[in-house]
Amino acid sequence: MSTTPHFQRVALIGFGLIGGSIARAAKLQGLAGEIVTTARSEKTRARVLELGIVDQVVATNAEAVKDADLVILCIPVGACGPVAQEIAAHLKPGAIVSDVGSVKGAIVRDMAPHLPKTIHFVPAHPVAGTEQSGPDAGFSTLFIERWCILTPPKGTSEEAVARLRAFWMALGSNVEIMDAQHHDLVLAITSHLPHLIAYNIVATAADLEEVTNSEVIKYSAGGFRDFTRIAASDPIMWRDVFLNNKEAVLEMLGRFTEDLTALQRAIRFGEGATLHQLFTEARATRRSIIEAGQDTAAPDFGRHTGGKPPGT
Ligand code: NAP
Repeated sequence: MSTTPHFQRVALIGFGLIGGSIARAAKLQGLAGEIVTTARSEKTRARVLELGIVDQVVATNAEAVKDADLVILCIPVGACGPVAQEIAAHLKPGAIVSDVGSVKGAIVRDMAPHLPKTIHFVPAHPVAGTEQSGPDAGFSTLFIERWCILTPPKGTSEEAVARLRAFWMALGSNVEIMDAQHHDLVLAITSHLPHLIAYNIVATAADLEEVTNSEVIKYSAGGFRDFTRIAASDPIMWRDVFLNNKEAVLEMLGRFTEDLTALQRAIRFGEGATLHQLFTEARATRRSIIEAGQDTAAPDFGRHTGGKPPGT
């Protein structure tokens, strides 16, 4: 079984935060003989050309995937089905086709039916990101020490999975293999729900604007600012996440609402012990995330670096 992460020709469809970060890291690590990319708009393609990171920028998805050994769709989840249909006839037999979408069940549902039997389909989700988007947002260290989850459908070639795993490891990631449905449930609570809460709290504050006006901005360091950072994420990407991970998100939202009601009750009836216990447990969760190397204990680190980890 081959574990070499080297591909002759890597095609990246979409060059935003994730596509741009893959290109930068793959270039740095010498993982591809050639990197070819495309994006939907002429504006993005022109900017990618200017950046000079990839070897070739082409106008169409079909042109990009021609002769590519590895094709990665780095576009919103809702766009992956139509693009799979568009590129299907142009894929090289034996190529690995992957994606980076934040939802996996819908990706398999929407892409698999279009793809020819001659290619290997290995969906992936790098659990790494920032609230930035577009061709300038990417950076080569984005994936270092972050998890990348692969969700190959049953029967996928083990060699293809091993090659993609080696590629992501060479980009700096730890790799986990998971069933697509399980992925969607886990990410619903760890990523999707926190974004929904952030969008909602920012919207609630905006509704209060007339009363509080500049106070919302002025005192935002009290916690609100962190929500506004999360809520600054790309609206199309997040619209597609919620439309395509509906059941898991609704399940987690139901549990969250029940727990919130319990908190509301504890506050109403002055149940200090209940509040204290819950806050203590939450603090322990934060500590274990830091111990697992998934964040830094430095206070308020986003303020000084514009959201990127130091040194990137
Ligand atoms: P991004 O910075 O907004 O870039 C998106 C790219 O997709 C752009 O090049 C855009 O082209 C292209 N695109 C948009 N709509 C398209 C369409 N209908 N057809 C073809 N191309 C289209 O987004 P991103 O943050 O890199 O996210 C890309 C994917 O990564 C999403 O599926 C997301 O779920 C996943 N992901 C994101 C994060 C994160 O934190 N951002 C983390 C992990 C995974 P133009 O520039 O020409 O419009």
